[in-house]
Amino acid sequence: MRLLAIDDDAFAIALLRKQLAQLGFDDVESCGDGAAAMALLDAPMAFDVVLCDLNMPGMDGVEFLRHLAQRRFRGALVLVSGENERVVQSVAKLAQAHRLRLLGALRKPVPLERLREMLAKVGQIAGNSILRPVRRTYDAGELRQAIFDGRLLNHYQPQVEFASGEVAGVEALVRWQHPTDGLVYPDQFIADAEAFGLIDALTQAVFAAALADARRWRDEGLALALSVNVSIDSLRSLDFPDRVERAAQSAGHPRDSIVLEITESQAMRDPVALLDIAARLRLKGIGLSIDDFGTGYSSLAQLRDIPFDELKLDRSFVHGAAQDASLRAILEANLGMAKQLGLRTVAEGVEDRDDWECLRALGCDVAQGWFVARPMPGNDVPNWIRAWRLRRDELRRSA
Ligand code: C2E
Ligand code: MG
Ligand code: MG
Repeated sequence: MRLLAIDDDAFAIALLRKQLAQLGFDDVESCGDGAAAMALLDAPMAFDVVLCDLNMPGMDGVEFLRHLAQRRFRGALVLVSGENERVVQSVAKLAQAHRLRLLGALRKPVPLERLREMLAKVGQIAGNSILRPVRRTYDAGELRQAIFDGRLLNHYQPQVEFASGEVAGVEALVRWQHPTDGLVYPDQFIADAEAFGLIDALTQAVFAAALADARRWRDEGLALALSVNVSIDSLRSLDFPDRVERAAQSAGHPRDSIVLEITESQAMRDPVALLDIAARLRLKGIGLSIDDFGTGYSSLAQLRDIPFDELKLDRSFVHGAAQDASLRAILEANLGMAKQLGLRTVAEGVEDRDDWECLRALGCDVAQGWFVARPMPGNDVPNWIRAWRLRRDELRRSA
């Protein structure tokens, strides 16, 4: 593993290096502020872990995090700071909000054991994406070809009912089987697809592949609802509902077991068309889910205006809720509101047993997250379901 330590205090760096060496990490680069670190990260060398001080002259830790996020840094991050607990906690929240892979925050002087524990988590958090810390940008031609040559493939992540443990459905999550970069995750190319005007074609490819997979599962006796992500950009063409309906019909998939998860990275440009389309989708029996609720533009105003029938709690409110009273307060308020509005609730980011118990106790309907299953190729879904039934029974017994 390659590590990068950033601190303006040479003594702190020397100490950290010594501790890292004790733990067997010899490949450690260091520098004195955020700007110098950015220069290192821009060079074509990849770091698996960045350990960063917060208070530094020049570019401080907070500004550095923002730059890391803009570059879609995929490595792991450890905050190391002498600041007080609340400041460190709020920066930790910021790192999560930036979707950085934060391992945790350490107070200086760093206890060796805590450092060991934290670095032990590196392998677990990021799957294989950690090997590709710096974001590649893809050009329109390459992306278009990938879509039309069928290089996109879907993985599926199960959604299960908290109360019964029944598998309710799966969410399709697109990946790009890239000839040189390996499996590329959607956060690396969805925004580009939107910017290049390719998002409709992408959505269509994902939806068609999902319907084909669902048909194979049905042939094995598994009737699964399909959730598909649709960026708000695709909800501008007025014939969208008809296209969805036709595709479902020709695949023999019941319309009422399709959920479109609306994700929004920007404010809606044409609210009238959006309302028209949303209303017609619902009239056709197709489900509409507000994804990542509580973040970005997924807000109360959307909930007021669009006839959603499902609310997906963003994972930043879900994971760790058992240990965090303010997260629980937010969840409770949102779940109460959803219930009054008659919305089904799905918690994403149910990562561990604590998350599962906590959200179930709060009355959330459906769980999605690593505790249940990681996203998997379509062929693995039937076997996973068989294995889940055994685990479900065990979970019920110990409840
Ligand atoms: P999303 O719709 O919120 O999907 C959930 C993301 O959370 C997935 O990331 C999933 O792998 C990840 N995840 C699942 N369980 C856990 C967990 O327990 N903990 C944590 N930390 N993460 C978990 P993924 O596959 O990288 O997708 C990222 C986003 O890309 C999706 O977020 C969605 O907004 C977008 N996306 C994926 N497929 C499509 C697509 O076909 N079309 C569009 N427009 N967007 C897509
Ligand atoms: Mg989604
Ligand atoms: Mg989400």
